[in-house]
Amino acid sequence: MNAPREAFAHDTLAALQAQADEFIAVRRDIHRHPEMGYKEYRTSDLVAEQLQQWGYQVTRGLGGTGVVGQLKRGSGSKTLGLRADMDALPIEEATGLPYASCHAGIMHACGHDGHTAMLLAAAKHIAKNLQFSGTLNLIFQPAEEGLSGARKMMDDGLFTQFPCDAVFAMHNMPGHPQGHLVLRDGPMMASSDNVTITLEGVGGHGAMPHRAADPVVAGSAIVLGLQSIVARNVDPQETAVITVGAFNAGVANNVIPQRATLRLSVRALHPEVRALLEKRIGELVHAQAQSYGVQASIDYQRGYPVLVNHLRETDFARDVAETLVGAERVTRQGKALTGSEDFAFFLEEVPGCYLLIGNGDGSGGGHGACMVHNPGYDFNDQNVAVGSAYWALLTERFLQD
Ligand SMILES: [Zn+2]
Ligand SMILES: [Zn+2]
Repeated sequence: MNAPREAFAHDTLAALQAQADEFIAVRRDIHRHPEMGYKEYRTSDLVAEQLQQWGYQVTRGLGGTGVVGQLKRGSGSKTLGLRADMDALPIEEATGLPYASCHAGIMHACGHDGHTAMLLAAAKHIAKNLQFSGTLNLIFQPAEEGLSGARKMMDDGLFTQFPCDAVFAMHNMPGHPQGHLVLRDGPMMASSDNVTITLEGVGGHGAMPHRAADPVVAGSAIVLGLQSIVARNVDPQETAVITVGAFNAGVANNVIPQRATLRLSVRALHPEVRALLEKRIGELVHAQAQSYGVQASIDYQRGYPVLVNHLRETDFARDVAETLVGAERVTRQGKALTGSEDFAFFLEEVPGCYLLIGNGDGSGGGHGACMVHNPGYDFNDQNVAVGSAYWALLTERFLQD
């Protein structure tokens, strides 16, 4: 127990609760006007205007619609990066809420509206009230949903223009009680690779299969064989997922098609497992195809890497969490998830930690317990105060004199 720290945390939370309504309104405004990855024009305008108004040095254009707000105080040389994502998803909203999306087929179904609002709320409080010494970089990134906005900002010079000693990000998570904080050091989110396999056979009459080379039969064997990689090649104590999400071939019952296409999602929680999956998929697909007399070609696209939280920064983030919400509301070492997250790119270059904030466990009803990417999902507005208080406290602690 550290009484002055606890008192400061208590006061910070009270202050952010007092200004929460303003940022709940911002959150709902962003929710009502969702924008897809790299098209966050209105959202990034809103973010940039607010940051400027509170005295941040604002840089735009990194990663297209990305925004960085920088605040320097004192003579300290430490640098801190906090990140929020701004993009929405191609989902038709079904919440029926008064502030539901006004754009057909686009929805903030992952709570990035909330992440943006929490970081803005923190930005205002920090600018107006916080004593610190060093440089704070608030990173509002585009296109987290599969389009590598984080990577794009880095390619545009994010960490050369805005060096950070450490970076942190927070994502809401339904199924955990509202405001609970979940941390984990080491691998926390999976790598996500997309693979397209094309099987080229010899088309023919369905009645004369001996005169053809059937890519459907070969593809079927490959689908089953792929699962043996997870079952027989990967250490049973490790995590691996190979999902064949699409298998397209043929149009008629009496025609053996020329070609079949399989589309895979491949995930792992360790870079070595990721590499093993890539190697074994290549070997198995080619050998199976050959055994059926068809040609295989593989387009293996590496997507987001494994998100690995750094030990020291995670310990620090845990400590801030426990000071803010109390140890009973913090999971110190939660489970890893097989979802993926492009903050993983940041963590390959800069030490840091990605943590979760509970969006609600369903006990209070409402939309908070509905899973992200579901058309009924909504960000829990009660987290605007907790999440922004967390950022303010972390900043104060990290950039101490
Ligand atoms: Zn998402
Ligand atoms: Zn998300």
